[in-house]
Amino acid sequence: MNPRVERARVLITVKAAPEPSSTYGDTVCVAGIRTDGAHPEWIRLYPFPFRWMPERVRFKKYDVIEVDVHRGTRDDRRESYRPDIQSIEIVDHLDHWRHRHEIVGKVAPTSTCELHRAALANSQAPSLGVVPVASVEKLEIVPFVGWTEAQLKRIADAENLAPLDLFGDGMDTPPELQAPRFTARYRYHCFADGCPSHTGQLLDWELGELQRRHLLNLSDDEAKGEIEKKFLTQKFASHRETSFFVGNFGDKVKRGSFSILGIYAPTQADAAPTLF
Ligand SMILES: [Zn+2]
Repeated sequence: MNPRVERARVLITVKAAPEPSSTYGDTVCVAGIRTDGAHPEWIRLYPFPFRWMPERVRFKKYDVIEVDVHRGTRDDRRESYRPDIQSIEIVDHLDHWRHRHEIVGKVAPTSTCELHRAALANSQAPSLGVVPVASVEKLEIVPFVGWTEAQLKRIADAENLAPLDLFGDGMDTPPELQAPRFTARYRYHCFADGCPSHTGQLLDWELGELQRRHLLNLSDDEAKGEIEKKFLTQKFASHRETSFFVGNFGDKVKRGSFSILGIYAPTQADAAPTLF
């Protein structure tokens, strides 16, 4: 039986760093707020083989896309769907924080403490959430430790891939996946009473992009300084009301562990409730 296909309209809020994949070389996990139902709700879309997707469908964060989706068989988390990548259409882009907040602000904020507790108790608990950040203790920036065994195997498998022409655009073989130089993780407190603090790795695509595009010729200390400037000083500036978009792993033994998929940093004015 074919899975039921639905047309979803999604404000893209999360684009994670590419991960090795034996089918496509590398794939990206995307999440956002689905707005075609009765209430805005989280949706996770995986996989997107960005390297094989032509420019016209390479959507960015805060684009609004429409895409056919269905439930996958491997991932039973309640927000997870598989996209039909040939059906993607970019229909809008929300440039202003106020417009973004009109949608993101309708999803109830939660806390990492609550997500963690619920995920350990129930495999169908929320696996994505927006978590206001009470305080950041530290942004730890460390050299990338290398791909895992499983990832190395996927990279090796992918070397034999024939070029894919998914969109009939005559794609050339795109460049290989590059390992990042640094990874980063936040130690932070959420707003739950008695929060003991959390450590979450930053999986945002932007972290790798910053390194690839702007930090190649810098020393380690200079590069770390630039990462801190962007992900600490700017995102947590005092006029911003900053939250993390967090998500857990599909692997059932890791469901209680939430990573930071992206940072939501509207100004206080743009995040203020509208009066009318
Ligand atoms: Zn907490």
